[in-house]
Amino acid sequence: MRFPLALTLKIASHITKQRLKRVPRFAMVLQLEPLHTCNLTCTGCGRIREYSTSLKDMVPIEKCLEAAADCDAPMVSICGGEPLIYPKIEELVAGLTEQGRIIYICTNGMFMRKKMRDYMAAHYTAAMEPQLARLVAEQLVTEKEAEAIRTAEGAAKQKVVILPSQWMYWNVHLDGLEYTHDLIVEREGVFKECIAAIRMAKILGYQVATNTTIYKETEMAEIEQMFQYLSCLEVDGHTISPGYDYDAAKKDMVKRLGKDPKDFFLTRDLTREKFKDIEKWGEMFTLFGTPVYHRFLAGKRQLTCSAWAIPTFNVKGWKAPCYVMTDEKLGHFERYQQMLDTVQWDKYGVVNDVARDPRCENCMMHCGYEPSGAMSSKLSDTWLNLKFNFSSRPKKVVAGEKVLAFNGFSVGKGHLAEAKSTVNKALAGARSVYQRNGDHDHAPATAIPVSSQRDELLAKLRENGRIEVKPE
Ligand code: SF4
Ligand code: SF4
Repeated sequence: MRFPLALTLKIASHITKQRLKRVPRFAMVLQLEPLHTCNLTCTGCGRIREYSTSLKDMVPIEKCLEAAADCDAPMVSICGGEPLIYPKIEELVAGLTEQGRIIYICTNGMFMRKKMRDYMAAHYTAAMEPQLARLVAEQLVTEKEAEAIRTAEGAAKQKVVILPSQWMYWNVHLDGLEYTHDLIVEREGVFKECIAAIRMAKILGYQVATNTTIYKETEMAEIEQMFQYLSCLEVDGHTISPGYDYDAAKKDMVKRLGKDPKDFFLTRDLTREKFKDIEKWGEMFTLFGTPVYHRFLAGKRQLTCSAWAIPTFNVKGWKAPCYVMTDEKLGHFERYQQMLDTVQWDKYGVVNDVARDPRCENCMMHCGYEPSGAMSSKLSDTWLNLKFNFSSRPKKVVAGEKVLAFNGFSVGKGHLAEAKSTVNKALAGARSVYQRNGDHDHAPATAIPVSSQRDELLAKLRENGRIEVKPE
C-alpha cells in the first residue's frame, strides 16, 4: 500500500459519512495558520506579504483547536508563516492528535532538529542510545547536544514534545536541489539544514513528507532528481503543486526584486506543460494526491474547483474563498459554516477552461482541485484512485544515490559564492563535498542548467545589496 491503511480508512470513512448525510460541501483538510511570522522571506511567498501588517499576531491555541473541531476535517495542515515559531506548537499538535486528526506540520525545516532534540530529551532512556550514537556519528547532533539529551531534567523532562506517530508528518518545504532551493528561499544553507532534519527525523522514526511548488523557472528534470534523492533518504511522500500568482507576492516581486511576475508564475498552459510527466512520476515516487488530480495537472481532464474542502483558518478567521485568494468583499469569517453559506462558490474556479473569476484563471492548485479529484463521484475516478492507493509503494530509486544534491552553498556556489565567482572564477567548477555514511564525493550527475531568469534574479539581489560581494 502506498499510504498507511489507518489514514486511508479515516479519510474514506469521512467522505462516506458526509455523502450518506448528503452534506453538499464539507472540509477535507484544514489549512491552519496559527501565525504568519517567518524566519525566511521566500520569493513568491504570498503569506508573509498578504499578512505583512499582522505578522506579530497569533491565533490562541484554544481557537486553533476550536477551528479544527468547527470544520471537522480529518486532516490538518499546520502552516503559516513558520509553524515551529508558534510558541504552543507542541500543545497544538497534542491537542489535534487528541481530536483524532491526521497532522502535517508544513515547515521550512530550520527548527526541526531543535524540536526533535526536545523530544529526545523528554523521552531519553538508555534504549535511545543506538539512535543517539548514530545521530552523532552522522553529525546530525553534536556531542554536546547528545550529552544535554542524556542529562536533561526538570522542565526539559516535563516538556510537551512532538512525538513520532503514524498520524503525524513533518512536511518539509523543498523547491529544488541546494542551489535552487536556497535561491528561492533567499538564504544560503537552508537546503542543507532541511536534509539534515529529514535524515534525523527518519532515524527517530518520524514520517516525513516534502512539499514543492513549481514555478515558471523550475527545471522539472531537477525536481525529478530531487525526488530520486529523497527516495534514497526514505522520505514517505511528496506534495507538488503549481505556483499561484498571489497578488501580494506579485507586488513584492515588482517592488523589491524589480522582476516581472510573468517570468515567475505559471499560466494554465505552462502548468500542463510542466506537469506532463506527472503520472509517470506517480509510478516512480510516492506522490501524495490522487491520479485524477495528476491527470488534471497534465491537461488530460477537467475538474471544477472545490476550495471549500481545503479551508484556511488564520489570525483573521476563515479566509474566503480559498487558501490562495482573499476576496475583498468577503474577507474572513468567524465560523466555517458561515463561510460555506455565504460564499457563492459557483463564482469561482475554471470550468472547461473558462475562468468564472479572472483571479482563478491560472490556478490549478491542490487547494482548489485536489479534493475534486478525491471526491469525484464518477465510478471510473473512484477505481483509478483506489487502484493507485492500494498499489504497492514505489521502490527506492537507486539513481538517487548519485544525484549531486549539494550543488550550491555546500560547494561554495550559493548566492554569495555565485556572486563571488564573478570575481573568482575558480569557484565555478567546485565539486560536491557532500558526505553520507562516510562515503565521499558521489559521482556528479548531469549539471542542472541555470536559467537566465535565475541569473537575472541573482543580479537583482546583488544590486539591492541583499548579498555581500567581497573580492577574494
Ligand atoms: S518558509 Fe513558508 S511561510 Fe516562510 S517565507 Fe518561505 S514560503 Fe513563506
Ligand atoms: S480556482 Fe484557485 S484561486 Fe480560484 S477559488 Fe479555486 S482555489 Fe481559489
